[in-house]
Amino acid sequence: MTLTPQQQAYLTTMGVTVWKDQSAPERQIQESQTRSAEAGPPAISLTGDPGSASTVNARNLDIKALDWSDLADQVRTCTACDLHTGRTHAVFGVGSQQADLLIVGEAPGADEDRQGEPFVGRAGQLLNEMLKAIGLQRQTVYIANILKCRPPNNRDPKPEEAEICVRYLYRQIELLQPKLIVAVGRIAAQRLLKTDTALSKLRNKLHVLPETQTPFIVTYHPAYLLRSPLEKRKAWQDLLFVKKTLDLTN
Ligand code: SF4
Repeated sequence: MTLTPQQQAYLTTMGVTVWKDQSAPERQIQESQTRSAEAGPPAISLTGDPGSASTVNARNLDIKALDWSDLADQVRTCTACDLHTGRTHAVFGVGSQQADLLIVGEAPGADEDRQGEPFVGRAGQLLNEMLKAIGLQRQTVYIANILKCRPPNNRDPKPEEAEICVRYLYRQIELLQPKLIVAVGRIAAQRLLKTDTALSKLRNKLHVLPETQTPFIVTYHPAYLLRSPLEKRKAWQDLLFVKKTLDLTN
């Protein structure tokens, strides 16, 4: 990838001064597409487990037939887990409903809870710069989280909360049909790939989302990059990988 002066300026903003090329993902894409063709599109289960001990409200799990608008309404009024009691806003997601790229994070933070939009504040600004660095505008991708409501004190989502709420994300994926999903941060990556493997071992590889066989890449959360600026070089390698993979899917 040859950088334009504008992209170089964005990289400077990100704090990235060096980049090196990523191994070509062509073969991995071909392999994942072959697996997808062989496996066929698996159904996403969006119905609740009637035997679950959670506080799931059955109405909230009947979401498989909802369109974008009704799904957003459902999230806004959702009381399916205890996190609804502390929220200012449920944070549904933002972006183009025709997007090729879906960015998935963990959960809203304080700024997101206040504004009702994912990835705002400093981490959001860095994400915007990361996207611009590979020629993408925030409004041309779709951005969502595993959890739609903010956990208190930004604690990690509890497994039962993620289990309930991720169904909204799966319906968003079903409606969006993205060509590529990028999980930012450990929680989103491990939850969607159903693994305990460390993020450092998940990045730099082309995975597929088990339910849909959608190509799937893992990188660092922008909030982590703000705390650990030395990792921005690796994030830039991941971004090049994202760009290359998106180019191959078009
Ligand atoms: S976190 Fe998800 S499941 Fe829990 S109340 Fe909010 S929208 Fe509903």
